Amino acid sequence: ELLLDLTLKDEAETRRLAEDIAMILHPGDCVLLSGDLGAGKSAFARAVLRTLADDPELEVPSPTFTLVQTYELARFPVSHLDLYRLEDEEELAELALDDLLEEGAALIEWPERAGGLLPANWLGLTIESGADPAARRVRLSAKGSDWPERLARTRL
Ligand code: ADP
Ligand code: MG
Repeated sequence: ELLLDLTLKDEAETRRLAEDIAMILHPGDCVLLSGDLGAGKSAFARAVLRTLADDPELEVPSPTFTLVQTYELARFPVSHLDLYRLEDEEELAELALDDLLEEGAALIEWPERAGGLLPANWLGLTIESGADPAARRVRLSAKGSDWPERLARTRL
């Protein structure tokens, strides 16, 4: 279900969107980040984590090789996953996403690599570059949960 179709004119606007979404995140939430290499999935995830950590300099390395990095933040843990190099279902099972979501929230880059094995509730962002190198089009869609109501409480 498509909820919003946004045009972000630069990286600061991507950060602003990330801050808004960070403020409505709960434990159990799963945010799926789709888009080509360089679209801005990691930039978005980094901004969400820095907001929730209340630390604008928090180091957020790409979990490309480890697949997952969990941040123990003040309110709840947030796991950052990058499934680009996911090999098979077994490797996905080892990540124990269900367990991560019992405790906290998850931000998942390359969710397509998980096949169908994703939680029933998610907020999805599809990020696309345009002609302007700093601009991005972001489409938000959601499955389950109360995402439309929660998004309505933001400045989006
Ligand atoms: P991905 O994780 O999707 O491969 P990254 O977040 O690692 O992409 O890289 C996105 C790159 O695009 C960064 O170098 C970032 O500075 C740049 N960029 C330029 N404009 C934007 C924007 N509006 N939103 C996000 N990133 C942007
Ligand atoms: Mg990335």
